[in-house]
Amino acid sequence: MTDLRIPATGVRAVLALIFETAGAESGEATEIATNLVEANLAGHDSHGVVRTQRYVEWSRIGDVHFGRHIERVIDADAFALLEGHHGFGQVLGREAVEVGLEKARMAGVSVVALRNAGHIGRIGGWAEQACAAGFVSIHFVNVKNSLLVAPFGGAGRAMSTAPVCIGVPNGDNDDFILDFATSQIAEGKALVALKSGKQAPPNALIDGNGRPTGDPRALYGNIDPRAVADPRGGDGALAAMGDHKGSGLGLACELLAGALTGSGAAGTNSNIHNGMLSIYLDPARMDDGHGWSAAVAEYIAFVRATPPARGVERVLIPGDPERARRIDRTANGLPLAQGVWDSIISTGVGLGLERDHLENLARNPT
Ligand code: NAD
Repeated sequence: MTDLRIPATGVRAVLALIFETAGAESGEATEIATNLVEANLAGHDSHGVVRTQRYVEWSRIGDVHFGRHIERVIDADAFALLEGHHGFGQVLGREAVEVGLEKARMAGVSVVALRNAGHIGRIGGWAEQACAAGFVSIHFVNVKNSLLVAPFGGAGRAMSTAPVCIGVPNGDNDDFILDFATSQIAEGKALVALKSGKQAPPNALIDGNGRPTGDPRALYGNIDPRAVADPRGGDGALAAMGDHKGSGLGLACELLAGALTGSGAAGTNSNIHNGMLSIYLDPARMDDGHGWSAAVAEYIAFVRATPPARGVERVLIPGDPERARRIDRTANGLPLAQGVWDSIISTGVGLGLERDHLENLARNPT
């Protein structure tokens, strides 16, 4: 099925109205909408607007709350432990990065632990926020109580999709942004496949017998794709990336972002929240005159000059694909599967908004 193309500004306006109607104050509604649309602009549809239905449902049942902000539980010179109080991750993530940068400006380096945050979405966005301020950042993330991934050698679930992200600034809109889930695919990519009636890559999941499969129903069960999809519904799992290495990195995220922060490692209890352990470095403070900035730029140029393998146009650095997609999608609109768009509109309709008003707003945002 051909994807729709809807202007990013229109989708943002629709989402902001939906979140405001669901109970967010207008600034927060816009921040959540903007963050989700930014993930789609970067090409990570799994962490974008497809989440709308689920976020509204989570707020309705009280798993996540509008209007909450970080609380500094421990506030040392170069370290902070932040309690998210199950607020929206789009707000808490931005606030946690601001704390990390504030401390790294003073001390040259900082470590910030965020716990009990609602879904903080695409982690690369937080590294981009740090890069924009000139800081290196490293993020370990886990998803408390989200058992989705089979560990290396296992046929059952023991981990969340636990993403890792590293950002290194490299001047004007050319930062190194490495950002990935430690599962073969992010859960949201299986969600997009389910909602679009497509298959995920063939080794992305395992079925209930531990056999590789690309069928997203291994995760969600055999449900109506229009229903709110619950990844606990299937008897299979996502596969860990990179065999024992990716599986080990995922376990490290569970320990650092879950056990160490107090957010909790993946398990089987109650509702789902993110923990994140972040390290911020001021590269200028580490420079004894060797010129870190030129060294980064030179090495990135060197890597890009690697002869491409057959069938590959050119060698990219992490962050390049997102930049290319942002240019295309800003100009041409967000490609959205009809099923994803339908789920957004029906979420708004479920809150009492008029279908025609939402469709008009998407095409003619004011
Ligand atoms: P992915 O497999 O698409 O990998 C993305 C990374 O690989 C990016 O750094 C990208 O720049 C780089 N990349 C892609 N193609 C490249 C190429 N040809 N050459 C060089 N680099 C290339 O990512 P994913 O594992 O599907 O994760 C998607 C998103 O899901 C991420 O933004 C992640 O933060 C997010 N996520 C969030 C949570 C959460 O709980 N909040 C959980 C899991 C994943």
